[in-house]
Amino acid sequence: MSAECIFCKIVAHEIPADIVHASDHVVAFRDLEPKAPVHILIIPKEHISSMADLKEKNAHMLAEVFTAASHLAKAEGIEDTGWRVVSNVGADAGQGVFHLHFHLLGGRPMGWPPG
Ligand code: AMP
Repeated sequence: MSAECIFCKIVAHEIPADIVHASDHVVAFRDLEPKAPVHILIIPKEHISSMADLKEKNAHMLAEVFTAASHLAKAEGIEDTGWRVVSNVGADAGQGVFHLHFHLLGGRPMGWPPG
């Protein structure tokens, strides 16, 4: 855990979040400022700053992330209309929180490529 990290505090239940899923290695909760009708953040319980810091040992956690995304897309009713998983890394990508997170987005058409 990183003492100053807001997402570590959510994992530790020190600050509130609308948690929609939890498993051994990941937690998922609704984004505070949703950019789509469905906008859920899926994060590892362990503090990892971004995808740039992933190690081989994180493979099982990553499997849980993507399994959770598929499960949540079904639970949110967007499996037929489509959905997207995005992880921003660094300044050009617009990363604002430096605890690895995957955005699950859906419920509206999304453009490609991102602006
Ligand atoms: P990123 O720009 O990829 O780092 O995304 C960070 C996301 O975290 C943004 O979409 C924020 O709205 C979201 N966010 C920040 N603080 C919280 C919080 N306390 N609870 C839920 N979502 C948050």
